[in-house]
Amino acid sequence: MPMRYNIIIFTDLDGTLLDLRTYSFDAALPALRMIADNDVPLILCSSKTRAEIEHYRKKLGNEHPFIAENGGALFIPEGYFAASFPYKEMRDGYHVIELGTPYATLRKALKNVEAEGGFRIKGFGDMTTESVMELTGLSRQEAELSRQREYDEPFVIEKGEEQEIIAAIRKKGLQVAQARYLHLLGANDKGKAVTILKGLYRTARPDARAMALGDSPNDLPMLQIVDVPVLVRKPDGSYDQRVFFDRLQKADGIGPEGWNRAVIDFLTSSHP
Ligand SMILES: [Mg+2]
Repeated sequence: MPMRYNIIIFTDLDGTLLDLRTYSFDAALPALRMIADNDVPLILCSSKTRAEIEHYRKKLGNEHPFIAENGGALFIPEGYFAASFPYKEMRDGYHVIELGTPYATLRKALKNVEAEGGFRIKGFGDMTTESVMELTGLSRQEAELSRQREYDEPFVIEKGEEQEIIAAIRKKGLQVAQARYLHLLGANDKGKAVTILKGLYRTARPDARAMALGDSPNDLPMLQIVDVPVLVRKPDGSYDQRVFFDRLQKADGIGPEGWNRAVIDFLTSSHP
């Protein structure tokens, strides 16, 4: 685990490190360079799938643990932490810690909610790769990766009231998280996953301070449990009003531009 300073950074992807429309992180390159130069662990924490996050880890040259599907699972590269910790299994060189509900269970519940309430709901599992591309603006390759879901089902409502559908989902003991889309998931959230990783870093480095950056309500549980919580602006320049608490810092910039500024300010005022 390379870690020169007592700093770790957790980040959301869509709308935060990645531009919501183009999925580019170019505006954050100066801060990313500073992170790399100073061996600061950058942990990607997204509602994206493991396959999608691996795609971005490669693009970013990132070899740190990551959190997929809204805290559904943590993937920790083998040998990354010196201390041992409980995990479910080894998969493709990762220790996997699973917090989410299996995708098949979520799909079945979504179908039941739809039938019982007379709603019409479309999950990624109901869509072709082409429909996902159209909905999200992802390339074909990335849309394919986004359909490899294990713990979280993004969905859109075609018929029915959002609040009624959310209530019906909760009655089944499941949850809904809000990002660009609604997401059906189990008892997991980003905060629970970040808490586990923060604990592992602190075993190695008890004085470690955690920063987290996000843009949407599904980031709130993650932001609330870190030392430096940062909210970036949405594409229209506003902040998501549903994400609010006292210590929250607001980055001056949309998505990766705000990310760049907030990270540089934090690193400059800390050690590097
Ligand atoms: Mg986001």
